[in-house]
Amino acid sequence: MSDNNLENKKQNMIENSYDDVYDVIIVGAGPAGLASALYLRRASKKVLILEAKSYGGQIVNASVVENYPGIVSISGFDFATNLYNQVIKLGAHIKYETVIRVEADKTVITSSNRYKAKAVILATGVTNRKLALKNEEKFVGKGISYCAVCDGYFYKNKVVAVNGGGNTALGDALYLSNIAKKVYLIHRRDEFRGDDKYLKELKDKENIEFILNANIISLDGHEKLEKITIENKDKQTQELKVDGLFIAIGQEPKNTIFKNIVDLDDRGYILSKDDVYTKTDGIYVAGDAREKKLRQLTTAVSDGSIASMVAIKYLK
Ligand code: NAP
Repeated sequence: MSDNNLENKKQNMIENSYDDVYDVIIVGAGPAGLASALYLRRASKKVLILEAKSYGGQIVNASVVENYPGIVSISGFDFATNLYNQVIKLGAHIKYETVIRVEADKTVITSSNRYKAKAVILATGVTNRKLALKNEEKFVGKGISYCAVCDGYFYKNKVVAVNGGGNTALGDALYLSNIAKKVYLIHRRDEFRGDDKYLKELKDKENIEFILNANIISLDGHEKLEKITIENKDKQTQELKVDGLFIAIGQEPKNTIFKNIVDLDDRGYILSKDDVYTKTDGIYVAGDAREKKLRQLTTAVSDGSIASMVAIKYLK
């Protein structure tokens, strides 16, 4: 086969591997991405959502959401599932593939495919921050978890620890106190970031022990996590025997793969103008992935709706 023929064949393979040209490809199926899809489908745009893991993003980890206007109380999982069903019913396509690169010409490359769109919305959210301790990765699923709602059930009548001082940690401790025999809530300061409402409820629980001004410094066990060592401000250490540890120390962005099309701040969040515009025409950002003052469900959904409106205008 001549070089030209080979080149043509390669080109055809690439062309054929484009499923279709979408109006908008949304990267990430959390609340921001799904809200974008909702608005885009209502405007009859051809939408593909690409998601690496499962729909819902971080909110599925929240046992209860009580600060979304108009909804008194709902589990994070139910919220995400309702939104997902709403979007799929409207005709959005979703594929579970990991995006590895997005080109300025709106070619979206996943680990198994290439797709073409006219506009792209990056809604990749954030990922759970790690303690970065030895054995942390090894014990994931063997005593270490980042999601109390997903894994709490496995710790019925057992002893668990929760690490963190934000709403996730407080919510997790509360949730686990109804399942586990005992819950240690370990936080590195003596003040919590999380809401007072949670704190009041936590203090009324007899099986929760607060350990403040302490950091976890080691995770030990044979086949699974068996004990953790904590260190206080005065460098005194203490060992705690636990069956499980729920790490809830916040989130981090994962945007470095998009460096060719967006600017990042020093923490790795995408810099945007007027909420959703990136430095590349037709490429927008929505939700926790962008640099912003408040990362909440409400602001993620707000970004998603703004990004979709801006994308619709761009398509015209
Ligand atoms: P967060 O608010 O950022 O809190 C992270 C906590 O982890 C902080 O207390 C922080 O300590 C601690 N931390 C960070 N790095 C650490 C390390 N290396 N070692 C030990 N501790 C560390 O994160 P989040 O709780 O996941 O919440 C994220 C956002 O989602 C927040 O806006 C929150 O309100 C929201 N949220 C809402 C709900 C709800 O409404 N139901 C539920 C969950 C989350 P310092 O305080 O000392 O920095």
